[in-house]
Amino acid sequence: MNVLSVDVEEWFHVCGVGGALAPERWPALPSRVVITTARLLDELDAAQVTATFFVLGWVADRYPELVERIQTAGHAIASHGYGHIRVPELGPAAFGADLSASVRALLRAGAGPITAYRAPEWSLNTRTPWAFDELAAQGFTVDASMAPVRIVGQTSYPRQPHRRRTAHGAIIEVPPFVVDRVGQVVPLGWGWALRTWQPRRILRAIEHSNALGYPAVLTVHPWEIDDDPPRVRLPVRLHFAHYFRLSGFINRLRTLLRTAPFSTLEKVAHAARSM
Ligand SMILES: [Zn+2]
Repeated sequence: MNVLSVDVEEWFHVCGVGGALAPERWPALPSRVVITTARLLDELDAAQVTATFFVLGWVADRYPELVERIQTAGHAIASHGYGHIRVPELGPAAFGADLSASVRALLRAGAGPITAYRAPEWSLNTRTPWAFDELAAQGFTVDASMAPVRIVGQTSYPRQPHRRRTAHGAIIEVPPFVVDRVGQVVPLGWGWALRTWQPRRILRAIEHSNALGYPAVLTVHPWEIDDDPPRVRLPVRLHFAHYFRLSGFINRLRTLLRTAPFSTLEKVAHAARSM
């Protein structure tokens, strides 16, 4: 069983940049999240795939009907935090407040109990051990933030779902899909690698992982399937992450959705919990 997850945020929710995309400017920027998420929902429906949607609290507060639509379509709702700020920059107290604000926004929008979390830009990991305690204290049982790659994580992080102890009980960590290629760890489950590789190569890598008994966790963003995304000048790394090979991604994604078996994060975590 694999996981298809969606981080529901706007095209301008980019961590750590000011200027044109500073948080105080967000309310005035053109919103694309409803139209692009709706398109993704149509694709999932056509492929008969059920996914987990990590919805940003900021989005849920502005578009509660979108949360309802995702839920009515049979998908699971989870938290992507409220203001899309990286966990270390928040610190313990502000992280707790951001997390609970996100849960309140999702509940106000009609979602059921929220028990799974993914940090903005994979920013919750062994460098922020206090954040796992806070998640468990607020009733979360699943996290999907620890990327086994450099820059946003560490290549030494586990690649399979596993249990992590906290001060308030265990959390199941479900990491994103990576593969080894020529001495490098490639983040095949999201971003530029998922958008760039040919579907048959990705499917072969997923099959290989499944044959070993491991799920492949893929992540997409609504802004990645936008026909006409607004563009702003970003630092090189972020430009690559946000704009590289968007063209035709929806078609490549469609092939993946209709070929490999996908389910929700919660089902995969449940299987890991009973191991
Ligand atoms: Zn995000």
